[in-house]
Amino acid sequence: MKAAVYYGIKDIRVEEIKTPACGNNEIKVKVHYCAICGTDVRIYLSGHKKVIPPAVIGHEITGVIEEIGEDVRYPEPIKIGDKITTVTSIGCGKCKMCSKGFYNLCPDTKAIGYFYPGGYAEYLIIPAPAVEQQAVIKLPENLSLKEGALIEALSCVINGQNYLNIGQGDTVVIYGGGPIGFMHAVIAQAEDATKVIMVDPAYERLEKFGKNFRDIILLNPKVTNVKEEIMRLTSGYGADVVITACPAKQAQIEGLEILGSKGRISLFGGLPKDDSFINIDANIIHYKELSVFGAFASNRRDFVKAAKLISERKIEAEKFISRIVPLEDINQGIEMVRSGEVLKCVVEINKE
Ligand SMILES: [Zn+2]
Ligand SMILES: [Zn+2]
Repeated sequence: MKAAVYYGIKDIRVEEIKTPACGNNEIKVKVHYCAICGTDVRIYLSGHKKVIPPAVIGHEITGVIEEIGEDVRYPEPIKIGDKITTVTSIGCGKCKMCSKGFYNLCPDTKAIGYFYPGGYAEYLIIPAPAVEQQAVIKLPENLSLKEGALIEALSCVINGQNYLNIGQGDTVVIYGGGPIGFMHAVIAQAEDATKVIMVDPAYERLEKFGKNFRDIILLNPKVTNVKEEIMRLTSGYGADVVITACPAKQAQIEGLEILGSKGRISLFGGLPKDDSFINIDANIIHYKELSVFGAFASNRRDFVKAAKLISERKIEAEKFISRIVPLEDINQGIEMVRSGEVLKCVVEINKE
């Protein structure tokens, strides 16, 4: 089969490799689409401890079931030809977090597209532990495989917002105008947030993509004093929710400062691992009764909700998918995501 093989930093080659066989407890998928994640770009640029080359990466996958191992007993009815996506995080199945279904937080999590081969190939094997953890999710009838390629990224955003309790009357401020930032904005709107504000110093880009979405206030921190502007927009109360969808300390620090009493902040984007300490006035959290949350990856329930939101057209997939490239052009696709000229770039592996 044809696959994009990651050989190391800045070295991905599209070549013929052996088509994997489907084991008795596995499911084989004919891959149609795999969207390029920011993490794929980071693996490409600087490697990843769980990706051991040569490896096939890619975890924002949709495809069609090609083969079901004879010992597979799946709780929801699945059959050959079904359109599916797959959960990324696969847990050990034995630890405390796994027993609660938080496979993303298993200390021994082994993800598809990292530890296990991923979606930038014509065929994908859903490994036995993933089958056991019900990683395979059928797409709703009215969802195309192309639209489905957004489910994984959206599921991570939904996982992040699970903690934030967004609702009517809330002002939500999002730092970072990449695809994840815009997904946060749209999901917050779907949760009935009253005001959604996005902040990004790469303002040209924020404006370019912001045009496609309704009712988002865009701020350029290079020319606007964000703190003053948020206070003005909230009659002096401050924001109810802040989400940092970027790897920037300044966003985390300022995000805490612009929160009003009872405010919630999600440190959604991680910081560079060798530079992850910030200086904050902890009394802000104390006196205002703020809540600080983290978020990492996602689980089945978040995938199911993401699929539902797209199928109900609460999330318009075509607004996020700026570009489709064939597998041969994956390197160009990664470069487009890196440079920020596209929101989501989806790699088409087998035509729908
Ligand atoms: Zn992703
Ligand atoms: Zn575990």
